[in-house]
Amino acid sequence: MPYAFFHKQIVPLSQAKIGVVTHALHYGTACFEGIRGNWNAEERQIYLFRVKDHYERLHRSCRVLKLNLPHTIEELERLTVELVERNGYQEDIYIRPLVYKSSEAIGVRLHDLEDDFLMFVIPFGNYLDVERGISCCTSSWRRIDDNMIPARAKITGLYVNSALAKTEAVENGFDEAIMLTHDGHVSEGSGENIFLVMGRKLVTPPACDNILLGITRDTVIKLAAKEMGIETEERHIDRSELYIADECFLTGTAAHVTPVTGIDRRQVGSGQIGEITGQLQKLYFDVVRGKNRKYREWYTPAYTVASRPGATTGGKEHRG
Ligand code: PMP
Repeated sequence: MPYAFFHKQIVPLSQAKIGVVTHALHYGTACFEGIRGNWNAEERQIYLFRVKDHYERLHRSCRVLKLNLPHTIEELERLTVELVERNGYQEDIYIRPLVYKSSEAIGVRLHDLEDDFLMFVIPFGNYLDVERGISCCTSSWRRIDDNMIPARAKITGLYVNSALAKTEAVENGFDEAIMLTHDGHVSEGSGENIFLVMGRKLVTPPACDNILLGITRDTVIKLAAKEMGIETEERHIDRSELYIADECFLTGTAAHVTPVTGIDRRQVGSGQIGEITGQLQKLYFDVVRGKNRKYREWYTPAYTVASRPGATTGGKEHRG
């Protein structure tokens, strides 16, 4: 049975329900995170990736939306481990913490409202095709500006902008949208940051181009520098640079490192997964699955030896 953290305790997911008048449901007044737990089959372990960094970002998002998150980073990490253990999945998972305006009240505002925190866990495989690469289009929807809804905060209401772009892309036969800023620079995907490979250099938009400062983005920048000696330039990117880049890939907790093989019906590079993208992907997957001990500080094992699913059943059954 799946479990959620709801109203300060772990309960069956089926019992975690909110009322129809809840403020966040009507006005998008909530902040969230998406955290992956990656299943390592040899060790029968789920490694939660960069949990502390996700919760630091959640605290920052809450400041923007005047949300009170009554747990420290350490408490949130502990709660997450406890919930994942209770769920006992033996596959890749996605953890969704949400801080929301929980008052049952009508009226657009951020003040004079109660807040609450909830979290649930779902099994989660690949979000985009990481093996073959994907096709993208530049969206006719512009990325929302910092003075409208700040993209650096992971605000639920902001995702209407992403949803418009994603659905337009998919209905037009593409896999993902790349949004431009109001002044026409490349910003990001609907739920991913974007990188171009130009020669032996990575290029990615800066924070001021209305991107979410992705944790996967940061991971890739560090892995490229430390493991491959490849520097990343953070600068404005013109739309037409998308058409002349040697390689392109998207990064995100859900998307991992997803190669982009076509943009606006033009082939990117050779039209196959690029060499540098492929190498980065391999490095990244080893790190997130806990196979590269050098980056130990980035992952939190969810199961203790005793609680490892299948530890007493020969690995055939789920716990919980
Ligand atoms: N941009 C947007 C709009 C996103 O929703 C996400 C996913 N959280 C990202 C970028 C990538 O961020 P991260 O690598 O931290 O998941």
